[in-house]
Amino acid sequence: MKRLGRMAAIGFCALWAGARPAAAERLDVFVSIPPQAYLVERIGREHVEVALMVQAGQDPHTFEPSPRQMMALADARLYLKIGMPFETRLLEKIEGAYARLSVVDMAAGVQKRMMEPHHHQEGQHGEGADEDDDEEERAEPDPHVWLSPPLLEVMARNTARALAEADPANVAEYEENLEELIEDIERTHARVQEVLAPCRGRAFYTFHPAFGYFGDAYGLRQVAVEAEGKSPTPRQLTELIGRARREGVNIIFVQPQFDRRAAQSVADGIGGAVVPMDPLARDVLANLETMAAQVEAALR
Ligand SMILES: [Zn+2]
Repeated sequence: MKRLGRMAAIGFCALWAGARPAAAERLDVFVSIPPQAYLVERIGREHVEVALMVQAGQDPHTFEPSPRQMMALADARLYLKIGMPFETRLLEKIEGAYARLSVVDMAAGVQKRMMEPHHHQEGQHGEGADEDDDEEERAEPDPHVWLSPPLLEVMARNTARALAEADPANVAEYEENLEELIEDIERTHARVQEVLAPCRGRAFYTFHPAFGYFGDAYGLRQVAVEAEGKSPTPRQLTELIGRARREGVNIIFVQPQFDRRAAQSVADGIGGAVVPMDPLARDVLANLETMAAQVEAALR
């Protein structure tokens, strides 16, 4: 039995080795966050080896690469960046030093929205309140571009182009895989549109404002309540509940990292629902459908 198992394992390894190009022949691709890894793997399949900077559970906004990651990056062919601030610092550090590495912006061509200002004065704000009444807070481009199917398509096309440039021998496969992925993205978009059609125009609160493009894609309005990346204080929570009531908000999105009790107390205060959302889930298409189902259920 033991021996059979070992033989099966050897057989499997041989098969595996036959099915996949040797590690050295694969294109080493670095990405910043898990949803990017999903796209690269869907297009590159067995021709790519994807390395991830921000691991599951890490916060991309406070992330710094480890020395080990910096060393691995020196051997990589491609870095597909997405627009997170840490990338700018990282790329400044290695500029000109990593001869093999091409850096490509996966979000090139995406029309970036501006982040909602985090701090609002108590009182009424108009729709999309963008007037700059806060001297410290400056509007920045929103980097969370991956939770919108139309933008995922742009990212997928950029990825296929970058892979083809780095590895022209497999361009036909990359194009074929891209077409398949685009079809999946469009199917997902159509299903999510259908699920969320009754929710158009509704508002949702989220502690971390990662769902702005998702909101734009489906006619939902995001209100960000995060205070400098920290959980809100009891006083801030009370203010938040009051504001949510006035604005008729029913949903609080929370990330897995966030303290659920605080979010639940807001939800209880407004008679709404806490909807767990992980903006960084690797399988971004499955995640979009999960999000849609949860939002729809919460607003029903
Ligand atoms: Zn974020």
